[in-house]
Amino acid sequence: MGNAFNLGRVFGIQFRLHYTWFIIFILITTSLSWQLFPGSYPGRPLLLYWGIGIVTSLLFFVSVLAHELAHSLVGRAHGIPIRSITLFIFGGIAEMTKEATRPGAEFKMAVAGPACSLVIGGLFALLYWFTRSTIEPIAAMAYWLAYINVALAVFNLIPGFPLDGGRVFRSILWRVSDNYRRSSRIATRVGQGVGYLFILGGIVIIFVLHDWFSGLWLVFIGWFLENAASVSYRQVQWRETLHGFTVSQAMTSDCPVISPSATVNQVVQEYAFATEHRCFLVAEEGRLMGILTLHNIKTVSQPDWGVTQVKEIMTPVDKLKVAYPDQDALSILEQMNESNVNQMPVVSEGRVIGLIARDNLIRLLRIRSRSGV
Ligand SMILES: [Zn+2]
Repeated sequence: MGNAFNLGRVFGIQFRLHYTWFIIFILITTSLSWQLFPGSYPGRPLLLYWGIGIVTSLLFFVSVLAHELAHSLVGRAHGIPIRSITLFIFGGIAEMTKEATRPGAEFKMAVAGPACSLVIGGLFALLYWFTRSTIEPIAAMAYWLAYINVALAVFNLIPGFPLDGGRVFRSILWRVSDNYRRSSRIATRVGQGVGYLFILGGIVIIFVLHDWFSGLWLVFIGWFLENAASVSYRQVQWRETLHGFTVSQAMTSDCPVISPSATVNQVVQEYAFATEHRCFLVAEEGRLMGILTLHNIKTVSQPDWGVTQVKEIMTPVDKLKVAYPDQDALSILEQMNESNVNQMPVVSEGRVIGLIARDNLIRLLRIRSRSGV
């Protein structure tokens, strides 16, 4: 998900705010400060409504973060690394670098989020209880936050993948059938069905109740869910496809070897325009020093090509992850996602025998899906 601000790291997880989040922040703050709070507790100064509205929205935002953090920490405890958490218009997304390998881990990770929201909802309900006849503005805030956190838990427990409930549903199918692929197919299909139901519900609300705002909102959520479910389904198919290949079947073995002291100009003139090489092994006397990609070359402006040496812009060997020829192609894709790299040198008996790039893996998927396997 692009166009997001980095908020910082907590527990080693990057927190990000997508720009669409501001839309929801403004919508919630406005409807609370303009309608809900003045309606339930009339006769207070305008500034108080807005102050409480903003604080409530921010606490809602913290509640969603806590929900995602609960998923992430439980996931990590079960060996599923989480790279980032992004908040956007429909809530939060925790970016996993790989899927659970056991149904039990998936179940616990999926349940953790709604459980956290229920606990937070319960705490705000308690706060409401203690403040309802004494500090009304706090009570108003606590009431809404209790309601929204419980609603968040209930919504997420709808059994359509990729909602938490869909993951719970898949983990149960998976445990019962011991068939990951079939369970994923069923759970993602149900997810698409849930998406269509939301869209249908939204259209009914628009035309029968003439409530354009709620109707459109529901249509958008439905559209988002349907889309996410289809993407997940495709990812499951990719995983299955890649699982059948080894690195040696997917790698490129004719990578040009260049010298670390060559200039960018020399490399560009010799290779880049003439052939389709997108990546070079940098070696001196047979020893790998690093790799150079077109991406590295693009970091240098053209007038400096003649004076910049390969070793200044290459990715050095100590920052490279290496792959081995008999490794599973899927595990390589997961490693690439985890460490955010696009290619890895393939090493056999201490010697570089080729290079595996994200492009190779994607090409493999295309060929495989075209032949209909
Ligand atoms: Zn969740």
